[in-house]
Amino acid sequence: MRGKPLTRSVVMVKADKDNQDEKAKFPPLSLGELPDVMQAAVARVGWKELTPVQAGAIPYMRARVDLMAQARTGSGKTGAFILPILERIDSSKKACQALVMVPTRELAQQVSRDAKSLTGDAGMRTVAVYGGSSYKPQLEGFKRGAHLVVGTPGRVLDHLIKRNLKLDQLQMLVYDEADRMMSMGFYPDMLQVQEFLPKRRVNGYMFSATFPAAVKRLAQQFLDRPEFLSFSQDQVHVEDTRHQYYLTPGMDKDRALVRIIEIENPNQTLIFCNTKDRVYYVTRVLQRFGYNADQLSSDLSQNVRDKVLTRLRDGKLRFLVATDVAARGLDIQDLSHVIQYEPPDDLEAYIHRAGRTGRAGASGVAIMLVNHNEKKHINRLSAHYNIKFEERPLPSNEDVQNLVSQRLTGQLEALLRGRDRLQTERMARFAPLVKQLSEDEDGLALLTMLLDDTYHAWMHKPPELPPVGSKATRKKTGGRRGRKSGGKGSRSRQGQRRRSSGKRS
Ligand code: AMP
Repeated sequence: MRGKPLTRSVVMVKADKDNQDEKAKFPPLSLGELPDVMQAAVARVGWKELTPVQAGAIPYMRARVDLMAQARTGSGKTGAFILPILERIDSSKKACQALVMVPTRELAQQVSRDAKSLTGDAGMRTVAVYGGSSYKPQLEGFKRGAHLVVGTPGRVLDHLIKRNLKLDQLQMLVYDEADRMMSMGFYPDMLQVQEFLPKRRVNGYMFSATFPAAVKRLAQQFLDRPEFLSFSQDQVHVEDTRHQYYLTPGMDKDRALVRIIEIENPNQTLIFCNTKDRVYYVTRVLQRFGYNADQLSSDLSQNVRDKVLTRLRDGKLRFLVATDVAARGLDIQDLSHVIQYEPPDDLEAYIHRAGRTGRAGASGVAIMLVNHNEKKHINRLSAHYNIKFEERPLPSNEDVQNLVSQRLTGQLEALLRGRDRLQTERMARFAPLVKQLSEDEDGLALLTMLLDDTYHAWMHKPPELPPVGSKATRKKTGGRRGRKSGGKGSRSRQGQRRRSSGKRS
């Protein structure tokens, strides 16, 4: 994309729905209007003009107004937050002044690479920190006096607790890909990082491709009266639904569904199939994979149907698989995702199905799985309803392996942080066994089973966030809460993690 002008439209709306039509407070800037330090950085990487997210977000960031921005990967969002950071850093100080939290190791590496390219030898030092990797280079980065720290919340928290990293000079805090951070189960870590922030105001910025209800709550908790900007090719506002499809091999659709679920990690999801038999089959596959899933079909007695729906409404059921007939007339609100296992027989049913997500002012995702024969439905729907479908790359087994490994490592590292001295002493009994098991295939199978069980026990239930306004919520005016907890993760924090970070049954 480098050097190529990007021509996406910019839609600006305020977080407050009543003021949606209000003009943007800070109009977009062109490249020539940027301060010298930013222009020099852009010249260094050869960009010819700003992308809409850069032009739109940078004025807010320079004005020190907290921001939540709807922007996807590929929109140039990394530049949108690195450039203002570059301007704000005082490189004569040997202290962390900007923190960017990201959901994955790969993104931490990429953002820090981008930051280094934009900086050149302009003086800003960057270090990337992420879980499941050696502490040594990360510690060396801190010792050199990194100005910008880019990291996954778990590892950032680790360094804060161990006092390797201090945030007393922090000016800017960026949450990148906030929706994915939630789906990785990082909410409790993000919450705990708040306790290490200085008492004075730190500017906060949240970038996310989608703003479902959970991410909106997150923004209210972590940002101070943020403005909301949406940068979207198709002028989709936050309340709207994103329409996506995956091209799946016909024979492998059930496994493809499982991989998509694992990657997307949706909260409550309605899964549509065209027939009762398919509903039964998909439900069984999900249940046997260990997901909290049930079916709704017109064959079931009213009593059983009511029980299933009560579980869904109470947040105790994560996946409901249904036919159109069974789901008709149901008042199921605020689902983060709707998945269509196959395209419906008639066009109108698509709208009914997709309309189950993105309600109550939250944005939702409507996903459809199509095989080669079914792909024509996408073209028809798109022509008939003027829907812009986004084709998503089908995740491979390796993609899933990588992601679940990162999620589990983050979770285990967090549990380890919470161990006290006696627990650490106790667990040392198993060290020789672990070594022995890791040395042969049968032993490895035992360890693998253990990790699989741990992961599934943790991932079964949708995250529950504390209501806005709870103790953890940041005060409107006084900046973030001062750091007090220190030490190892407290017991209550461990409880919090169990309650809110993963999916459990
Ligand atoms: P991002 O959305 O930040 O991951 O950026 C996607 C790609 O767009 C990266 O390869 C960037 O180097 C590139 N890019 C970012 N900003 C610009 C720009 N203003 N002009 C051209 N390419 C850009």
